[in-house]
Amino acid sequence: MSEKNRLNASAVDGKILGKPLELWENDFPKIRSIRRYEEVFWGNPNLKPVHEAILETGITLEEIQTAEHRLKRFATFFMEAFPETRATHGLLESPIRRAEAFQTALEKTPFAVPFGQLMIKLDSDLPISGSIKARGGIYEVLQHAEHLAFDAGLLTPGMNYAAFAKPNFKKFFSDYSVAVGSTGNLGLSIGIISAALGFKAQVHMSSDAKAWKKALLREKGVEVFEYDSDYSVAVEQGRKEAEKDPKTYFVDDENSVNLFMGYAVAALRLKAQFDHLGYTPSKEKPLFVYLPCGVGGGPGGVAFGLKMVFGEHVHCYFAEPTHSPCMLLGMMTDQHDAVSVQDFGLDNRTIADGLAVGRPSLFVGKVLKHLLDGVFSVTDDHMLADLALMADVESLRLEPSALAGISGPSWLKRDSAVYEALQKQYTPEALNQSIHLAWATGGSMVPEGVMERDIENGRKLYKNNALAASLESPSMQIVLDEGLDTGEEEQIRDEALISESLWNYNLQSWPTNVEKSRKLRLFLRTAEGELLGGLIGKIYRNALFVDKLFVEDNLRGQGWGERLLSRAESIAKKDGAAFAHLDTFSFQAPDFYEKLGYKAFGILDDYPDGLKRYFYKKTL
Ligand SMILES: *Cc1c(COP(=O)(O)O)cnc(C)c1O
Repeated sequence: MSEKNRLNASAVDGKILGKPLELWENDFPKIRSIRRYEEVFWGNPNLKPVHEAILETGITLEEIQTAEHRLKRFATFFMEAFPETRATHGLLESPIRRAEAFQTALEKTPFAVPFGQLMIKLDSDLPISGSIKARGGIYEVLQHAEHLAFDAGLLTPGMNYAAFAKPNFKKFFSDYSVAVGSTGNLGLSIGIISAALGFKAQVHMSSDAKAWKKALLREKGVEVFEYDSDYSVAVEQGRKEAEKDPKTYFVDDENSVNLFMGYAVAALRLKAQFDHLGYTPSKEKPLFVYLPCGVGGGPGGVAFGLKMVFGEHVHCYFAEPTHSPCMLLGMMTDQHDAVSVQDFGLDNRTIADGLAVGRPSLFVGKVLKHLLDGVFSVTDDHMLADLALMADVESLRLEPSALAGISGPSWLKRDSAVYEALQKQYTPEALNQSIHLAWATGGSMVPEGVMERDIENGRKLYKNNALAASLESPSMQIVLDEGLDTGEEEQIRDEALISESLWNYNLQSWPTNVEKSRKLRLFLRTAEGELLGGLIGKIYRNALFVDKLFVEDNLRGQGWGERLLSRAESIAKKDGAAFAHLDTFSFQAPDFYEKLGYKAFGILDDYPDGLKRYFYKKTL
């Protein structure tokens, strides 16, 4: 079987894992919206108490601490090989900060943060590769290097790891290769760190990978293989190539526990940052974290670490593009890597290259089965609009993937089930004290021109209020009836339905003695029945509304208009109307109405170019 066939083996004869699509849609109705590329939110129904769920995974805090210690050992190497890390003493970590201006800018939109404070975790600023991949990817290569050096007797206990930057280490590693499949950022991290240690590096890039990422890697001496297919194929090819050579180490983004531990260290570091701010997530001040998700390793490791460190009062949500919601489908159906977004008819094409993954990690899906609070999806336009807004109001330059999580807080209210559950768990004061942390996963390496173009495009979207418009979807759209007044049956019926519905709504709050409005039609005819003028209006509650009044040219100035109007007034008065109202343009007949006792109570100027529209009223 070719790679493509193997990867798509789950969708055969229009069935997915032997089950027709309609049945999937019946079992998981959200699949309908997902297939229409709509933004959706899935709340995990399988949550368990955190300590219980963590015990079941078999992963311990010690494993995460081991990873942290290893990174510490390498601090002197980092300072040597990457001088920009000297300021932080060789610690690869990113700041957190408030995003008050962004939160304020969203206030009156459907994506407002519903309660609490919005903060951002700036993994875009991580040293070396400028994305969350600087955590797991770099960690795994270091671990491999440490093992090799130790086994070869090159590394001895108590040695200063600055030695890893020395020529004899580099020469030793030049015999070995590190390979990885990537949509871009993992390749960058692994390629750069491998090259710095002296390894030969091979990066297998999916079609989503941005040209600048490939160029940058080649500049660093990394061998880049390009594929015309998606991430899963690039990984598969990379794995196969690596298997041919015993001296090639393959970083398995889909299944690697080492990567996962490297990512999880972020939780220990975040705890220290929060400690510094005097904040501890609790029942009085819960923490909500939103993590952009591709295959799942990065956000999975971070979320797992956070649950381990903070327990019940941290809630973690994954964010995925509407075109690549692989973890959402995998966890919701409990089929994990047995299903892909392509199986369900999605194309896995998104501007968020870091998240363009069609098939999720089985390992992560299983570990988080009872721990992850939910997964939501976000459109490309939404990410772009947020990207531009973030640049404009916070001066933060992020790549599209990094914006996937920022709309997460709005779901805590947009999804009524989540909101109800939260209100049961927390008091209103606690929710108001809560912190929302959106993990901004990358951006500082993006070339200026690429960034400017994205900001430009996103600015148009948010300035046109396309943020709100993105709530429209194929299942819910505002459709212009292009036919205008076609007189078609459907148009007449639909218009009547709107009137009827509004009327019924009005009746709920109006006095019960109010009848439905009565149409008033007065026609001016010759004895032969020829129509020469008329008045169309309605008597409505205690008013006469004159909608249209018209008299043929050659009959004007003979008092017919006045007679039509006073007949209407007297009929209305008999029906209990207390006043009459109407509107007219300045070029029509304002004098006529004023002469008959109508008084203007409102004028619209410039309708257009100096024309006015008068609103008149007369007591009957
Ligand atoms: C890879 C990546 C992610 C997601 O990490 P996964 O391990 O693939 O789930 C998020 N944001 C950016 C910028 C990334 O490059």
